[in-house]
Amino acid sequence: MSKSCPTKILLSEDQLPKQWYNIQADMPNIPPLPLSPQTLKPATPQELSALFPMDLILQEVSTERFIDIPDEVQDRLKQYRPGPMYRAYRLEKELGTPAKIFYKYEGISSAGSHKPNTAIPQAYYNLKAGIKRLTTETGAGQWGSALSVATSMFGMECRVYMVKVSYQQKPYRRSFMEVFGAEVFASPSNMTESGRKILAQDPDSPGSLGIAISEAVEEAAQRDDTNYSLGSVLNHVCMHQTIIGQEAKEQLAMVDEYPDIVIGCCGGGSNFAGISFPFLMDKLQGKRSLRAIAVEPAACPTLTRGVMAYDYGDTAKIGPVAMMYTLGHDFMPPGIHAGGLRYHGDSPLVSALYQDKIIEAMAVKQNDTFKAATTFARTEGILPAPESAHAIYAAMVEALKCKESGEAKTILFNLTGHGYFDLAAYDQYLAGSLTDIEYSEELLQKSLANLPKIE
Ligand SMILES: *Cc1c(COP(=O)(O)O)cnc(C)c1O
Repeated sequence: MSKSCPTKILLSEDQLPKQWYNIQADMPNIPPLPLSPQTLKPATPQELSALFPMDLILQEVSTERFIDIPDEVQDRLKQYRPGPMYRAYRLEKELGTPAKIFYKYEGISSAGSHKPNTAIPQAYYNLKAGIKRLTTETGAGQWGSALSVATSMFGMECRVYMVKVSYQQKPYRRSFMEVFGAEVFASPSNMTESGRKILAQDPDSPGSLGIAISEAVEEAAQRDDTNYSLGSVLNHVCMHQTIIGQEAKEQLAMVDEYPDIVIGCCGGGSNFAGISFPFLMDKLQGKRSLRAIAVEPAACPTLTRGVMAYDYGDTAKIGPVAMMYTLGHDFMPPGIHAGGLRYHGDSPLVSALYQDKIIEAMAVKQNDTFKAATTFARTEGILPAPESAHAIYAAMVEALKCKESGEAKTILFNLTGHGYFDLAAYDQYLAGSLTDIEYSEELLQKSLANLPKIE
């Protein structure tokens, strides 16, 4: 019994991880290389280099187990890292569970989520390659905020295509990005061919992440001084996030703990990868057994109801084609509030691990996640992002199972961000007017019919 376990477990600045962990070194089945959207043949480094700097392309395909974090990147990460780990004593008490619940809190970054962990190295490697501008898309605004902060750190320009419905619903996320010097456009916009095409068909289109990605990729492909930056899904993004799990391992070791269950919410898969991969390394090397659970919205059930297939990453089919769990690139997610979990695809690494049954997945309804978030806020005193609430819900489900079985399991989850920009959603929940939307089987079959045919 770790009776002396503190509520807050902290690391000093010199304990920041010095390397990223690359799970491709330990996976039984490495995902295949992305395909070119034009030829549907493996994308050449030349094709990828229109969008990404060579350092990141090499990280994408590397099978090296550990990759050094450049000193300049470590320096910037130290502005908010290492991050705290908490023992959720009051939540445990509220649930009456013998389980020990721990969480890493990523809301301490300036953008309020885990996303700067990859935005900073991405901006760094682009600047090093002589790139002056980055384009990207953002849904709810967290990724655009993170990249705006990172580009401003390195004196670069940033253009963000923000999904129109979020642009209208979350004006302060736009203000945030503009404070850091980014230009923000509602997508679909008339700045790009892809945007103009959609507007011609539907002038009132609310936009989607797939459309916004098309706009950002199109602009980056056309300009030599500009690259594209993606906040999740890709292998190098998942790898950059592994500092979360490495810190967590160190922090749990300080109190003689190791998790039986590791939980992360799952949109594109990057924070789930970040918290779980350093532990899955032990599992893949046969040293430990543990369960890792990726939690997604019932309204966007990529792992639990999608198919493993090659699919386009964006609506206009101009970005690379990846082998991943997908709901189809035409998928229009219902307007749930966990905007960061509304992508049609999933990380190829997370997808391959799920297909090989090394990890598990579960889908959760929106009202259940807000109920869990409210319980968490009232016990632990932190207002969670609606995305993070998916992980909280799953941790509570597992803790309540322990209550029934009497087992004192150790549960670790990732609290990816704060919910300060999401209070309109909390308002709706408290007023009882949030709806639970499940994606219809008919719409799903329709969008899956449009997957690219690869021979
Ligand atoms: C973007 C985001 C997520 C989901 O993205 P992943 O790549 O799946 O981690 C989760 N939580 C917050 C707060 C986010 O901003």
